[in-house]
Amino acid sequence: MAEDGRGLNRRGFMKTAVAGAGAVLVGGGTQGTEATTGETAPASDPGRRAPWVRTRQTPDIAVVGAGAFGAWTALNLQQSGAQVTLIDQYGPGNSRATSGGETRGVRAGYGGRRTSLQWVRWARQAIEMWRAWDERGQDMLLPRVFFTTSDLIMRDEWTDFMEDVRNNWDEVGVRYEVIDADEIRRRWPVIDVTDITVALWEQDAGVVRARRAIESVAQVFRHEGGEVKIARAAMGPVNGRQLGALQLDPDEALSAGTYVFALGPWFPKAFPELMGERVRIPIGHVAYFRTPPGDNSFSFPNLPSYNFPGVTGWPALGPDNRGFRVRTGGRGRGGGEADTDPDTSRRWLQPEELERPRAFVAQRFPGLAEAPISETRSCHYEISATGNFFFDHHPDFDNVWFAGGGSAEGFKFGPVIGQYMAGRVLGTETDPELIEAFRLIPEEEEPGG
Ligand SMILES: Cc1cc2nc3c(=O)[nH]c(=O)nc-3n(C[C@H](O)[C@H](O)[C@H](O)COP(=O)(O)OP(=O)(O)OC[C@H]3O[C@@H](n4cnc5c(N)ncnc54)[C@H](O)[C@@H]3O)c2cc1C
Repeated sequence: MAEDGRGLNRRGFMKTAVAGAGAVLVGGGTQGTEATTGETAPASDPGRRAPWVRTRQTPDIAVVGAGAFGAWTALNLQQSGAQVTLIDQYGPGNSRATSGGETRGVRAGYGGRRTSLQWVRWARQAIEMWRAWDERGQDMLLPRVFFTTSDLIMRDEWTDFMEDVRNNWDEVGVRYEVIDADEIRRRWPVIDVTDITVALWEQDAGVVRARRAIESVAQVFRHEGGEVKIARAAMGPVNGRQLGALQLDPDEALSAGTYVFALGPWFPKAFPELMGERVRIPIGHVAYFRTPPGDNSFSFPNLPSYNFPGVTGWPALGPDNRGFRVRTGGRGRGGGEADTDPDTSRRWLQPEELERPRAFVAQRFPGLAEAPISETRSCHYEISATGNFFFDHHPDFDNVWFAGGGSAEGFKFGPVIGQYMAGRVLGTETDPELIEAFRLIPEEEEPGG
């Protein structure tokens, strides 16, 4: 059987990858987790699989971690014709995962970082893909996950950051308006814009329901013939530069041709030597304020998502009714022993940690100043040393990939990341600039680099 340079069993992958990797929900007729023989997809339906023969009981690819990075990658690989097993220690959308929160913002407001332009491009693409996902998901009765709230970046003066965001938007073609404080007051009178002089309003930005989205991706993945396994995975036996199998807990070995690790904040725990200094895992804080009974002024679609320096959030969403969401900073790396282990860290806010969101709401949304807090969440995010995502090989293994480094921004990109990462694994994504941008270890840091 033909093998590519990285040990991936190709069996027709290259033929199907381009058509398949971009497709989200596709029509039926592709189920069957094992020993499926000779499925032939009509040429007129690019989302369905090409001719395919399976003779093995083992997966072609094992993806460890069913958060946004892993679940979307697994789905795209499965849709490209690979047989994929997706493994997660607590299950897709679990409440300890970074992707297990209620909602995540989807906006293209990036400026002032090396990665800004590329992230703006991907965010724009992601917004289209989230919309398409919801549209196609109706056929499978999947819950709607994306809501176009729009997003308002407000500042006391026009800043370099805003200038950079606007230039990036102009280059990529993002729809926006520059508005002043009077206009904000007129459109959304519940926002207190004292000291604010200017805002960038991104019309197509929105909010995605995070854990529901991951549940749905896993559901479609299963529907497509993928297998989801609940187990903790570790590196198993190796043979030179090849990983031979995963060691699963409970006790089992799982062998595949290729392995993708998408562990979010668990990377430093699973690969301490390699990732200990490359991935930081601070904790972000989220509080949900109860909206006044019967009053929709703090709910979608009557208020945009908002961005003040250091604080972001969005209106209450009808489908989940969690309340008005406020996201403040959080606990840093030195936040105590419990905060360095995502398996045991505290996931709610202490009373003193509520002071900041309360003060913010009293200042900017005074109609909620006395509102009770209905629930809180604290959650790890993963900052890579490069400041970008990493989609790269394990430096010691040709058949092991890493996907991570979400940097408190990764969820929105899930559909794009899944498509890109599947392409990397299958060898169809070859853009040298992106490959360079997503290296785990920048070239200059490599021995002799
Ligand atoms: C408070 C907060 C706010 C954020 N806001 C936004 C936002 O507005 N917009 C946005 O786009 N992004 C946002 N993010 C970032 C975004 O949520 C993350 O970038 C993204 O969810 C990361 O997904 P992931 O798949 O890399 O990691 P995760 O979702 O954490 O997935 C990793 C998975 O791996 C599993 N796992 C780990 N180790 C093992 C093992 N050994 N065996 C088996 N399974 C294992 C875990 O159980 C987990 O399910 C925010 C993050 C936080 C914390």
